[in-house]
Amino acid sequence: MRMILLTGAALSALFLSPIALAADAPPLPASVKADARALESKIIAWRRDIHQHPELGNREFRTAKLVADHLKKLGLEVQTGVAHTGVVAVLKGGKPGPVVALRADMDALPVTEQVDVPFASKVRTTYNGQDVGVMHACGHDGHVAILMGVAELLARRKADLPGTVKFIFQPAEEGPPEGEEGGAELMIKQGVLDTEPKPQAIFGLHLASAYHAGTIAYRPGPAMAASDTFTIVVTGRQSHGARPWAGVDPLVTSAQILVGLQTIVSRNMEVIKEPAVVTVGTLHGGVRRNIIPDKAEMVGTIRTFDEGMRRDVHERIRRIATNIAESAGATADVTIETGYPVTDNDRDLTAWAAPVLAQVAGPGKLVEGTKTTGAEDFSFFQQKIPGFFFWVGATPPDMPLDKAPSNHSPLFKVDESSLVIGAEAMASLTVAWLSSH
Ligand SMILES: [Zn+2]
Ligand SMILES: [Zn+2]
Repeated sequence: MRMILLTGAALSALFLSPIALAADAPPLPASVKADARALESKIIAWRRDIHQHPELGNREFRTAKLVADHLKKLGLEVQTGVAHTGVVAVLKGGKPGPVVALRADMDALPVTEQVDVPFASKVRTTYNGQDVGVMHACGHDGHVAILMGVAELLARRKADLPGTVKFIFQPAEEGPPEGEEGGAELMIKQGVLDTEPKPQAIFGLHLASAYHAGTIAYRPGPAMAASDTFTIVVTGRQSHGARPWAGVDPLVTSAQILVGLQTIVSRNMEVIKEPAVVTVGTLHGGVRRNIIPDKAEMVGTIRTFDEGMRRDVHERIRRIATNIAESAGATADVTIETGYPVTDNDRDLTAWAAPVLAQVAGPGKLVEGTKTTGAEDFSFFQQKIPGFFFWVGATPPDMPLDKAPSNHSPLFKVDESSLVIGAEAMASLTVAWLSSH
């Protein structure tokens, strides 16, 4: 993965640039750093507790209770059971000002933990009918702990806070169980952005294995991909494998479609504008060597960074599948299920936020990250209000990045020094944004 490291000179240019601190963003009170550091051991303890008790999407009962109890103790107005297990809390500052939302996702993954730590998860559960291990393999345990710390930090300075903070603890970022709704989309549907106080901007972060602890990474504009799923069912006509002329072979037709789909990105997408990915992940058909089956099915994923390209890929998948099938005398049924949109960082908000993060990270530690083809449902919030989503490096400094187990791996390991950096970053963005908007 390529990173553009901001050198000392580039960093000072950033500080001096008109979009930087200048009039908009006041220099951060040094006390935010000190306050975050004072909360570090609590944040680590919460994270370990949540890590040891991971819960899948829409089932974050224990986590939600831990969060809600903490926020109530801080004196916030707390609403529970939003979009199943979500917790929304409001902190009204002592001075008038705008409303900003901060979001943390709470769900774990059906992964069996292999990390050797005393607080490793031993939890098992049933997921879509299968017995699975459960692990915080994406770092959402850290996100929850960070935002709990930020809530405490900001609650302590409530009297001086010029505006309102809406805390959004969100279930099911990784997707709800089959047959259920969930995540950011459901929270929005249930009015989290439309009910008073209505946030005018939103911040979110992700612990990332792609960067070392101590590094903060961000990217203006499209940062993470839109993710859509396609299913193609090819129907031919069954016959004896020894007499293919008597049938229509859906396997050969599917193979042609599969290869045809690979020309979308290589021949049709303007790859210098934005990248795109079309992957067929499963291809099933047939039960026996000498029977040509009547059906085959393939399922795949599409990743794009531009809405126009996204629509174009969908259209081309439909056209290629249908026309190749027709040429073989078969039919193709194409279903495209839209998933998460592009995580698109508001450019003005990002330009404003970068110098704040540069102060938090320190010289040389704020980098412009590469796009990632992973997807994130924070993108739904960004479709409604300006949003900024950034990455906090989580890989232990002594581990080479190319060897670091990625998010979702059973070996994904968070260097806990990243947690306080995340808390300081979120708190700093909040204080600076409320003070300057
Ligand atoms: Zn994830
Ligand atoms: Zn995640």
